[in-house]
Amino acid sequence: MKTYFIEFSYLLASILFVLGLRGLSHPDTARRGMHLAEFGMAAAVVGTLLQKEIISYEWIIAGLLLGSTIGLAMGVWVPMTAMPQRTALSHAFGALAASLVGVSEYYLHGANLGEFRMGAIGFEVLLGSLTTTGSLVAFAKLQGLLPGAPMIYKGQNVFNLCLLAVTIACFIFLLFVPGTAALFYLMLGLAFVFGILLVLPIGAADMPVVIALLNSYAGLASAATGFAISNNVLIIAGTLDGGSGFILSIVMCRAMNRSITNVLFGAFGSVQETVTASSSGHMRDVKSDDVAVQLAYARQVVFVPGYGMATAQAQHALRELANALETRGVTVKYAIHPVAGRMPGHMNVLLAEANVPYSQLYELDLINPEFPSTDVAVVVGANDVVNPDARDNPTSPIAGMPILEVDKAKSVVVLKRGRGRGFSGLENPLFFKQNCEMLYGDAKESITHLTQAVRDA
Ligand code: NAP
Repeated sequence: MKTYFIEFSYLLASILFVLGLRGLSHPDTARRGMHLAEFGMAAAVVGTLLQKEIISYEWIIAGLLLGSTIGLAMGVWVPMTAMPQRTALSHAFGALAASLVGVSEYYLHGANLGEFRMGAIGFEVLLGSLTTTGSLVAFAKLQGLLPGAPMIYKGQNVFNLCLLAVTIACFIFLLFVPGTAALFYLMLGLAFVFGILLVLPIGAADMPVVIALLNSYAGLASAATGFAISNNVLIIAGTLDGGSGFILSIVMCRAMNRSITNVLFGAFGSVQETVTASSSGHMRDVKSDDVAVQLAYARQVVFVPGYGMATAQAQHALRELANALETRGVTVKYAIHPVAGRMPGHMNVLLAEANVPYSQLYELDLINPEFPSTDVAVVVGANDVVNPDARDNPTSPIAGMPILEVDKAKSVVVLKRGRGRGFSGLENPLFFKQNCEMLYGDAKESITHLTQAVRDA
């Protein structure tokens, strides 16, 4: 009876995970998808707690309490802008757990492991360990504990590939001679080192892609754990995690017109940028009241949110401004770039939090044809995603990245604090164009002033 209940809870968990992922694919259903996945995880935990292999609950309860407290605190206090590093930290812990399960299985059964289980454990330990240290380095880079720029040296890629080759060689040897404990622990150590060396040469701007990729590795490590300890729900959840993380990495690379290999081995961000002719000249400041008049008498205004809106937490203020404009009969739209901000869907999440109707959010291919007939495009703390060099300058490091073509609007107003560059570190020729004006200041404060001025206009 107990076995049936456990199997049922695992089946339920697996179905809920699939439905959860499906829900997450659309902003309207994302919240429900998240709840379904949470219920799924709860069902999987309950089922696991009933396993007959458990001989005492003290340590499990202690771990549950500690983990839940840390998770709750992180959920409540970590700001949205720090979500990528928070995710990196979660992956590091998840992958470490998978790796430790593998180590304990090896410690218990070592020489008696058959080829299949040794393969599953080796795979789990290898991926789990490199994901642990790789995610920790990603966390440190994003948190500013390590330099965000790529850390590179001559022959780095060759050295890394040799290290990976030695690690895989240990793994293959263990498949045939599983009792060689020294080699197992050497493989473990090398995988930890490889994780560090894999992420050090990658720039902070590419970190979200790396995190999605490491997420995929952590998922595959969990699936391997499932094979090693014959646990179906781990196999299913790990495979879903691995597959979705990999697809996400590909989608993000496409949105930046980069390949995965370029992200992993390209050391993007280390290039010394040369200022192009198009980014010379001067930027024109504009006063808040003048922008308010432009907005108040416009037919169509398109807001282009970016990372600066997230740091300023300006989404609610932006919604207020949109309301003020709409009551004057102005059509308001929001242009959403797939990699605006610091994580996929970052802008969607923030705007949904401010109750911006989903029908007002427009993706690249839908909004770009509308810019020529837009009176004012208001860039709210975005930079790289509106950089025309990506379209016009084939030598730019971001050449080919699809952009929001705000420069084609009749007038562009950029809200930013100063002359700070985008995450890529590149200058933006948009700011020097004839139809572009700069409204300096924190995005939230600027928008609050604008709203008041629009109401008074
Ligand atoms: P961005 O290029 O990072 O630029 C953000 C701009 O916001 C900066 O120029 C900054 O200028 C301004 N800013 C910062 N704080 C502000 C505040 N409080 N008020 C007003 N302005 C503020 O942002 P983005 O255009 O959103 O582009 C995202 C970048 O991240 C892209 O390079 C993208 O490839 C990369 N990326 C994103 C993802 C993802 O999943 N979203 C994944 C991988 C890479 P000042 O300092 O002058 O204010």
